[in-house]
Amino acid sequence: MNIHEYQAKEILRQYGVATPKGQVARDRAEAASITRDFGGQSVVKAQIHAGGRGKGGGVKFAKTPDEAAELFDRMLGMNLVTKQTGPEGRKVQTVFISDPVDIARELYLSFLVDRATGRVTALASTEGGVEIEEVAAHTPEKIVKVAVDPAIGLAGHQARELAFALGLSGESFKKSGVFFQNLYKLFVEKDCSMVEINPLVVTTQGDVIALDAKISFDDNALFRHPEIVAYRDLNEEAEAEIDASKFGLNFIKLDGDIGCMVNGAGLAMATMDIIQHHGSSPANFLDVGGGASEEAVKNAFRIILQDPGVKAVLVNIFGGIMRCDIVAGGVVKAAREIGVTVPVVVRLEGTNVEEGKKILSESGLRIQVASDLDDAARKVVASIR
Ligand code: ADP
Ligand code: MG
Repeated sequence: MNIHEYQAKEILRQYGVATPKGQVARDRAEAASITRDFGGQSVVKAQIHAGGRGKGGGVKFAKTPDEAAELFDRMLGMNLVTKQTGPEGRKVQTVFISDPVDIARELYLSFLVDRATGRVTALASTEGGVEIEEVAAHTPEKIVKVAVDPAIGLAGHQARELAFALGLSGESFKKSGVFFQNLYKLFVEKDCSMVEINPLVVTTQGDVIALDAKISFDDNALFRHPEIVAYRDLNEEAEAEIDASKFGLNFIKLDGDIGCMVNGAGLAMATMDIIQHHGSSPANFLDVGGGASEEAVKNAFRIILQDPGVKAVLVNIFGGIMRCDIVAGGVVKAAREIGVTVPVVVRLEGTNVEEGKKILSESGLRIQVASDLDDAARKVVASIR
């Protein structure tokens, strides 16, 4: 799960990590009054779950409270396109007013889970404010990696290694040690998958502060953190994915032609591979999970059909706990209620497979039944040719 910059900064403050003062403004008057509180100037920042806002026009400097009000008006509701949103952009629904900081240096610092070593790893670079992917691609030697031993935590010498890598000295050096330790503590205690501070700023007074913050959480640990779940912003999530999550279904939008209804992530991967193998690509996949009801299957099928990218549907179910007759029943109900205009190929195997196939063949609907996965992929790809 991802959260907004202003929310991430609330958490940083709880852990004693320095950030500029800031507040969400609800209307233009508030944008002006917050700016007045900051001494008459502010930075107006669009809140979307994507970075690169600065370059896209989502971070603007206001020299007066009136200008902050103007910028607030212009930003709220705008469609912000950044390198990370893709060409369709994101609608700005929240605007954050931040206290301007006198920046001496912009640095980069993040913690993430390095899958290769299985450890929480800090990445530090003097190239802050730029996308780290660019730095990694062109000047990888400018990124320093420090892997943390989970039994010890971020050791003092490791914090110093990071500070040296960032070229810090004097008071900034001392302050950065506490900053890194607190950030690591936050990462572990809140079950994060990534905490990225870009830029980490050294101010002209030598303070070390998080000017921007991006935090992602491990979804599997969210049950331990109701306070994080409360930060969830449904405006930032794809409608179909929210719709699916209401029924305990997992929907992922992709950009191909074939809608896939499967059970289990492994079968989803195999299904997508074999579709690719036969020369097409998936428009989405929807995992109905272990023991979905007929109602859930019906909704799954509806959600897949509502995806405008879908030119044909492949239902690929292995009935273990899930029963094939329930899947067939759900598909038939959905097809009757919604009306299906695209070809549908169904491959069922496992528990109650005969009952399932019977329901499909007696439905009177034009559903092609496949004998195995290969046959199913072949048929569904052929259906859109
Ligand atoms: P993004 O990463 O989405 O572009 P940032 O929050 O990193 O957004 O802001 C982009 C740039 O805007 C920063 O690199 C910094 O130069 C400037 N900036 C952002 N917030 C402030 C602030 N409070 N004071 C001064 N400059 C800021
Ligand atoms: Mg940034």
